[in-house]
Amino acid sequence: MKLLDGKLIAEQIKTEIALEVKEQYIDKGINPPHLAAVLVGEDPASMTYVSAKEKACREVGFLSSVYRYPANITEDKLLEIIDFLNADHEIDGFIVQVPLPKHIDEQKIIERIDPRKDVDGFHPVNIGKMVLGLPCFLPATPMGIMTLLERYDIEIDGKNCVVLGRSHNVGTPISILLSRKAKYGNGTVTLCHSHTSNIAAIASAADILVVAMGKEGFVTAGMVKKNAVVVDVGIHRIPSAETKSGFRLKGDVKFDEVSGKCSYITPVPGGVGLMTIVSLLQNTLKAAKKAVN
Ligand code: NAP
Repeated sequence: MKLLDGKLIAEQIKTEIALEVKEQYIDKGINPPHLAAVLVGEDPASMTYVSAKEKACREVGFLSSVYRYPANITEDKLLEIIDFLNADHEIDGFIVQVPLPKHIDEQKIIERIDPRKDVDGFHPVNIGKMVLGLPCFLPATPMGIMTLLERYDIEIDGKNCVVLGRSHNVGTPISILLSRKAKYGNGTVTLCHSHTSNIAAIASAADILVVAMGKEGFVTAGMVKKNAVVVDVGIHRIPSAETKSGFRLKGDVKFDEVSGKCSYITPVPGGVGLMTIVSLLQNTLKAAKKAVN
C-alpha cells in the first residue's frame, strides 16, 4: 500500500504557487492575489478551517482577510456584505464559510456571489460549467481529490469508480469529474447514497473508491477490492485523552484494516483536507488572473 500523501502534494503545490506569486506579482510590484473569507458565528470547526485558509494564504504570499460576524446577523445584512465583496476590486475571490446559521438561506447566499469570485466553486454557474467541461472554478474538495490522483498518476480511464455520498460539495461533483472525458477521467462511475441497496457489494467492486458519507469508520476491509485506490473524504473529531487538542481526526474508512488491502489510500489527517485548502489557493490564483469569466 502507498499513501496518497495530501500533505506532501499540498506542500509541492504551495511551493509552486509561492514562486509564481513572487515572480509574477511581488517582483513586478503588483498586489498579490487576495482571498477573503466570511465567517458567521463561532462554530469551532469553521473557525479552524478559516484560520487554516489564512495560514495557507500567508505561506504562499497571498493577501487574506476575514470578515467576522455574529451568528445573529440577518440574511439581508449578509447579502449586503456579499454585494460589497463582489464589487471590491481589491479582492480576487472569497468564500462564505458553511454551515451558516439556520435562519439564513445558504443557497440564496451562494447564488449572490459573483461566479467570477466564487473560488469555492459552489455557485450554480460554476457547477453548470463543470458539468459541461467549460473553464470554471471547481469545488475545492473534489478538485483536490482529482489533483491528488493526477499527481500520483492514478489511471482512471476505464476503471470502475464508486462514490459513496452524493453531497453537492463532494460526492456529486467528484462523480462528474471522474466520469468526464479527460486524461484523468473516463471512469465508469456509480454514485451511492442512503437509498442504495447493497452498498457493500457495490463498493467492493470498485477500482477507485471515494468515500464522502460523514460516517466514521463506515468502510471496512470487507467492502474494498484488493488493490483498489481508496480516497477517504470524511473528517471526524474523536475525543482523545492522548492528544494535546483533546481529539483525534478519523475518516469514513477504517484505515488500519483497509490500508492492508488497497494499493493507494489517503490518510486522515494528511489526505484530502489539505488538498481542499490548496485547491482554494489554486482557484484564487486563477481568479486573480481572470482566467474564469
Ligand atoms: P453530507 O452532505 O452529510 O452527505 C453525506 C452523503 O452520504 C449523503 O449523500 C448521504 O445520502 C450519504 N450517506 C450517509 N449515510 C449513508 C449510509 N449509511 N449509506 C449510504 N449513504 C449514506 O456529507 P459531505 O458534506 O459530503 O461530507 C462527508 C464527509 O466529508 C464529512 O465527514 C465531512 O466532514 C467531510 N468533508 C471533508 C472535506 C475535506 O476537505 N476533507 C470537505 C467536505 C466534507 P443521502 O443523500 O441519501 O442523504
